[in-house]
Amino acid sequence: MQTLRRVFGYTAFRGPQQAIIEHVIHGGDALVLMPTGGGKSLCYQLPALMRPGTAIVVSPLIALMQDQVEALNQVGVEAAFLNSSLDGAAQAEVERRFLADGLKLLYVAPERLLTGRFLELLGRVELSLFAIDEAHCVSQWGHDFRPEYRQLTVLHERFPQVPRIALTATADAPTRREIVERLALNEAEQFVSSFDRPNIRYRVVHKEQARPQLKAFLAGHEDESGIVYCLSRRKVEETAAWLQEQGVNALPYHAGLDAETRAAHQQRFLREDGIVMCATIAFGMGIDKPDVRFVAHLDLPKSLEGYYQETGRAGRDGLPAEAWMAYGLGDLVTLAQFIQRSEASEERKRLERAKLDALLAFAETTRCRRQHLLGYFGETLEQPCGNCDNCLEPPPTWDATEAAQKALSCVYRTGQRYGVGYLVDVLLGKDNERIQAQGHDHLSVHGIGHDLDARQWRGVFRQLVAHGLLMPDAEGYGTLQLTEAARPVLRGESRLQLRREPDRSQRRASRRTS
Ligand code: ADP
Ligand code: ZN
Repeated sequence: MQTLRRVFGYTAFRGPQQAIIEHVIHGGDALVLMPTGGGKSLCYQLPALMRPGTAIVVSPLIALMQDQVEALNQVGVEAAFLNSSLDGAAQAEVERRFLADGLKLLYVAPERLLTGRFLELLGRVELSLFAIDEAHCVSQWGHDFRPEYRQLTVLHERFPQVPRIALTATADAPTRREIVERLALNEAEQFVSSFDRPNIRYRVVHKEQARPQLKAFLAGHEDESGIVYCLSRRKVEETAAWLQEQGVNALPYHAGLDAETRAAHQQRFLREDGIVMCATIAFGMGIDKPDVRFVAHLDLPKSLEGYYQETGRAGRDGLPAEAWMAYGLGDLVTLAQFIQRSEASEERKRLERAKLDALLAFAETTRCRRQHLLGYFGETLEQPCGNCDNCLEPPPTWDATEAAQKALSCVYRTGQRYGVGYLVDVLLGKDNERIQAQGHDHLSVHGIGHDLDARQWRGVFRQLVAHGLLMPDAEGYGTLQLTEAARPVLRGESRLQLRREPDRSQRRASRRTS
């Protein structure tokens, strides 16, 4: 507590920090899952100060290393980093201090750490702990796999007595399992925090005319800092230019800009007030700006994990912030094509599609968005949050029990082996070759769906998936299967409300303008 106050100037620990810190100080291994902004750094920085020797912090992010080392130096902690941004002389100086026991923390990029020379250096100094930041980089399923992370087990093999603390803000179960396995952390105690970010208000809107919608949203955030995420570099540029024309202090950021421009724009975003950064997801990882007031998605993120990470950059100071997303059917098609055309393995593609489905379910839900989002990460929020669009303005719904029964029966009668397109054709009584070949034109469900059009039926199917009555096959082929939850609806024992699809005229308008 004294060190916490004296060095970091905090009066109390946050959430599970104290338990984690005590565990590591006493030499235990730890796996820390804590949302962005939760305060992970302190979990290794404080033990590093309390234990004899130097702490080695593995981090893949050069910008983050520099920021943290600067911040530590400012409060009088002997810390330094080694990465490709230093010239030879500067590196030699850091190594000299390290060997002279002059450092409490040394930040290192993984590729540097894993060199034979550096491992040899490690053997000559007393080590207090290893901190492995962004530990999800070890996972293939994660969003930023780094092959070098796989080799970090060498630390444990060479220095078994040095405690290790692995940290990540990625919470999903498969990634967590892979971290434990790949980093040999079976013995480590796991500290799993709540991933709720109660100060972030979630909103998802149906994309009609993206730019006016964005403009209206930004009008509620005048002179505030925020991020607008777009899928492509071109769209980043165009959106930034358009916003500038509208008098918004916007800057572009994507991997296609030269390093100097990127660094300059990032610096301005961090240092100035009221900058709106239009960016691809290349922007944001490791950016610690506490007062980002909003994150807007003009395109769908790739997964719910991605959405959570990206929106999590808002409101790190705990003050009200907004996560806003506009999505349309076109986005789904684009993303599905992205996946289809990628060079990835079939297995990987199926996984990506499953992730997209999960994101869609979130976008479509009429339930509390926070309950949905946290539920996806395995966490239960007992009450609706009262701070998302669905809680604040419950969406118009209709009694879709009968439509759902028809849709579910159609899935059942056709053998739970088909995707939405085919199922809708059967409901609408189409007589195409495929349907005839299967003899499905003779089924009782053939042609029972004339009360809705194809678009509305697709909406019904999407929402049935979102509500967990239908489930896409595990392989990701897009075929739909019934779940246990479908039974009471099929039997007429429970009724179902679905979100009303926006009507056709609105959709035409959006097509014309987009
Ligand atoms: P993470 O790495 O989990 O995203 P950080 O370690 O960057 O989070 O911490 C997020 C913010 O919270 C930082 O601004 C940090 O100074 C602050 N913070 C961390 N721990 C505490 C604490 N115990 N009391 C007050 N502020 C804290
Ligand atoms: Zn809610």
